[in-house]
Amino acid sequence: MQRKFIVGNWKMNGALTNNEALLKEVANGLAQMPTVDCAVCVPFPYLAQTQSLLRDTSIKWGAQNVHQANNGAYTGEVAVSMLRDFDCDYVIVGHSERRHLYGESNLLVAEKFAAVQEAELLPIMCVGETLEQREAGITEMVVAEQLAEVIKLRGVQSFRTAVIAYEPVWAIGTGKTATPEQAQEVHAFIRKHIAGLDEGFSQALCILYGGSVNASNAAELFCMPDIDGGLIGGASLAAKDFLAICNAGQK
Ligand code: PEP
Repeated sequence: MQRKFIVGNWKMNGALTNNEALLKEVANGLAQMPTVDCAVCVPFPYLAQTQSLLRDTSIKWGAQNVHQANNGAYTGEVAVSMLRDFDCDYVIVGHSERRHLYGESNLLVAEKFAAVQEAELLPIMCVGETLEQREAGITEMVVAEQLAEVIKLRGVQSFRTAVIAYEPVWAIGTGKTATPEQAQEVHAFIRKHIAGLDEGFSQALCILYGGSVNASNAAELFCMPDIDGGLIGGASLAAKDFLAICNAGQK
């Protein structure tokens, strides 16, 4: 079994003054947890601060979004080369908040995924169904379609240098977590789906679960054979909660 990978997604939260205390406490706690891997994806303005506070720790950092183009007249956008300037390792692409609030399509997500990989950073690609889609019994179809656009653009082997996060939309920020069995079922589907196209690799594929993970439910989710860690929103904003989740991921 691979090491668990726990990623904090701060979303649009944080402040210079609070971030320092949060990052220091998380870094100190993680120093006592040598068997779990961890990263935080922070808002763009805090990348410099995060870089300077985490550069001598085991914690990696990254961004929550990126533009698909390398540079140009895209007012308000951020290019992946800029993320490289701050030593980011990871970029979340296709978070459901971006898909639903900003209309990001599967194709756009695939283009962002490609831009991240071309700059030699690692995409954390979010996939997941809405409640309506789950109730209609089309969860696997929806997830397969989300993956298909990346496979079409980059080939299935591109998942060798990426992370997938299964995040049922109905579980994000709602306090409703998928049961470990519900999550496991979709994770196993994703692994099998990739294995069907890229035999020999799928066991090493890192598939995170995200959706209201907290200190009380993390351990039971992480016990599942196809759950390789978590993408943590709300609970990544409190050091104590985030560290408890990381602790649940220790071998
Ligand atoms: C997320 O932001 O990816 C997420 C899973 O949020 P939360 O943990 O708050 O549900």
